[in-house]
Amino acid sequence: MQLPSFKEVYSGLISTSSISSSDPSWDEGNQLVIEKLATWLKDVGFEVEMVEAAAGKFNLIAKKGQGEGGLLLAGHSDTVPFDEGRWNFEPHALTEANNRFYGLGTADMKGFFAFIIEAVKKIDWSKQTKPVYILATCDEETSMLGAKHFTDNAPFKPDYCIIGEPTSLVPIRGHKGHVANAVRVTGKSGHSSDPALGVNAIEIMHEVLFALMQLRDRLIKEYHHPGFAIPSPTLNLGHIHGGDSANRICGCCELHYDVRPLPGISLDGLDNMLRGALKEVQAKWPNRIEVTPLHDAVPGFECEHSHPFVAGMEQLCQTPSQTVNYCTEAPFLSQLCPTLVLGPGSIEQAHQPDEFLAFEFIDPTINILSKAIHQYCFD
Ligand SMILES: [Zn+2]
Repeated sequence: MQLPSFKEVYSGLISTSSISSSDPSWDEGNQLVIEKLATWLKDVGFEVEMVEAAAGKFNLIAKKGQGEGGLLLAGHSDTVPFDEGRWNFEPHALTEANNRFYGLGTADMKGFFAFIIEAVKKIDWSKQTKPVYILATCDEETSMLGAKHFTDNAPFKPDYCIIGEPTSLVPIRGHKGHVANAVRVTGKSGHSSDPALGVNAIEIMHEVLFALMQLRDRLIKEYHHPGFAIPSPTLNLGHIHGGDSANRICGCCELHYDVRPLPGISLDGLDNMLRGALKEVQAKWPNRIEVTPLHDAVPGFECEHSHPFVAGMEQLCQTPSQTVNYCTEAPFLSQLCPTLVLGPGSIEQAHQPDEFLAFEFIDPTINILSKAIHQYCFD
């Protein structure tokens, strides 16, 4: 049987649109790209299962080999939407130019599956002792539904996991989490000449801001992780809008803020801290302060620096591991086993017009994947 070429697979992945977005006018299913992937993985000898995590949103789970443990190679099959008019190349086609592959998802990260297929094609499996698993998730760019669904229902427990997000082939052993909330203060508008006619939402927001800034200082004082360039959690006040004119008592004011917790701070724990910080001002102004999440929260993630998997992959990649500031599916998948984020292409190109993957990553990536499979699934 003629196995698909690296470029055929890469081009098939990029030309099969699988955008996920919280904006329904952009949001697509990923069934077509998962079906293509399933066909190629069967061609190279994997058993494949498609799991529908939500309507039209699929995870693909593939397995080669028997036994316990083994290595899981994971990634997401969706992409973000693209800025129409800002691309010089067709987003849904693989274009070769300037020693790069251009296209939506070339780096972040459908291309990773083309690298996996190319690596496994060349392997002599006769001495395999542990299974190799491949996971392609849905909806990473929005709710991380696919990774959560897989982790909650995982049919196996691998020894190790590599998530092929674009890290320029540097093993990433940790990242902070992300929580973003809106605080909406509802006052009562009235003529500015008599403050007794209303309840000023901006004045209440002033108390909310004070409480959040106290919490920010507390987070800095109480949490510290020397493995991060910014070694404490951050709390940023990012957007505020309230009122409409100087001669009206402000009836409504809304604030958006985000928190980036260090790994080890649970989302529940953080939520308790955030609630606790606003407790006093909420008691003072009952039913006037409402907090709602702006998106699904993602916890931080860390694979202990001292873990042998970190040293093993550092040696295999010939480069020290790092921590980063963007979020991935690692907080979920690492509930199953030690996990590193490691893949071709640069995060600088993710979510950008003219996203590309430089050719210089091709051979080293196939080499690293092949060596990792041998190291963790072969005698
Ligand atoms: Zn990604």
